[in-house]
Amino acid sequence: MRLTRFFLPLLKEQPAEAQIASHRLMLRAGMIRQAASGIYTWLPLGYRVLRNVERIVHEEQAAMGANAVLMPTIQPADLWRESGRYDAYGPEMLRIRDRHDRDMLYGPTNEELITDVFRGAVSSYRDLPRILYHIQWKFRDEVRPRFGVMRGREFLMKDGYSFDIDSAAAIHSYNRHLVAYLRTFERMGLKAVPMKADTGPIGGDHSHEFLILADTGESEVFLDSAVLDLALGDRAIDFDSRDGLQAIVDQWTKPYARTDETHDAALFESAVPEARRTVRRGIEVGHIFYFGTKYSEPLGARVAGPDGAQVAVEMGSYGIGVSRLVGAAIEANHDDKGVIWPEALTPFHAGIVNLKQGDAEADAACQSIYDRLTAAGLEPLYDDRDERAGTKFAAMDLIGLPWRVTVGPRGLKSGVVELTSRRTGESQELTPEAAVAKVA
Ligand code: ATP
Ligand code: MG
Ligand code: MG
Ligand code: MG
Repeated sequence: MRLTRFFLPLLKEQPAEAQIASHRLMLRAGMIRQAASGIYTWLPLGYRVLRNVERIVHEEQAAMGANAVLMPTIQPADLWRESGRYDAYGPEMLRIRDRHDRDMLYGPTNEELITDVFRGAVSSYRDLPRILYHIQWKFRDEVRPRFGVMRGREFLMKDGYSFDIDSAAAIHSYNRHLVAYLRTFERMGLKAVPMKADTGPIGGDHSHEFLILADTGESEVFLDSAVLDLALGDRAIDFDSRDGLQAIVDQWTKPYARTDETHDAALFESAVPEARRTVRRGIEVGHIFYFGTKYSEPLGARVAGPDGAQVAVEMGSYGIGVSRLVGAAIEANHDDKGVIWPEALTPFHAGIVNLKQGDAEADAACQSIYDRLTAAGLEPLYDDRDERAGTKFAAMDLIGLPWRVTVGPRGLKSGVVELTSRRTGESQELTPEAAVAKVA
């Protein structure tokens, strides 16, 4: 992509409405624009990152055994009357009436809708287990929308639902999700810690929230720092192995890690050696929940078991804050100059800065680097504007691509370009070929 053909409305001024770094940087870097309170347009740069998040989520859902669907944003109120949540949900739900005076709503979540799809299609235990998910816009009329996309009113969520014949199978589905989420966040270059969450009347240990540590997080978190040293790495995972998954789940959920909602000060002190007791703030980027027959009972989602008797299916639901993750990734990866994208999320792999646009040799060298990066399967952003070097560098620092290749007539005389790492700030003089090889 050439910058002269890319819609990238950068802001020079600090936007007054933004209180935290990610919101400020997303506005300044031309990633989003507000349409109304808590409702945003995703501009080309931001949308590229959002799609990266979506792609990784889709890939890891498939690897774990889930099927992608796409449910509508608008739902009939009657389904929510069946579950009893229509009145219970309160003012966070956006209620709509159509021209025939039917009550509709903009979905804040989809348990009812997916259970309706399921009950109409599945009648035997032989068709279980099933895991269905989608990535779709949600609307919650938050009391205090703030921090940009982190607490929007309209936001993009991955929400998934599992259907099983009994609780042992349902816990296997739960564990599939927990491990798939670990891999999903790890692939994004993010450290998200599963923390014990409230299960309400269901009880048990099967609800976890995934939190990214950041000073601007809305939750206070208490953890054993040992959990921060865990990594899946590239180990192969057999998602069909119940014992194998349980072992991974145990490894991640045994160390103490809780939010203020479930924190137990006495247990924290007795279970975690003082040197490892860590108190920070965190951003909730995912939430998984095994809730049994909470929706299948009232909605009548039953299947025939092996003995022919009708049983309500055991369900769980599993969410990832897809749009929130873009903000959370920035909270965890930025400096005072701008964003520092993890490789997996970056909107472009490298920026090419031409120090003398219009100089035949510099233009040709930039084009050649551009072509080679493209041939290597990467997407470069070429700053071909007629601007001062300082302006171009500031723009690159702000948008935070992992690599910057700087090309100018002086370097080219000795056959080199400059390759700069955004994260470390280190620069090297290399031949164009070596620079391309390093980035690829
Ligand atoms: P929060 O505690 O932040 O209000 P929640 O617990 O209400 O979130 P869930 O119902 O668990 O949210 O939804 C699944 C995921 O959707 C959350 O883990 C979060 O990442 C994301 N999410 C929830 N509300 C918002 C919002 N208003 N804006 C952006 N993302 C959100
Ligand atoms: Mg909420
Ligand atoms: Mg929450
Ligand atoms: Mg939650």
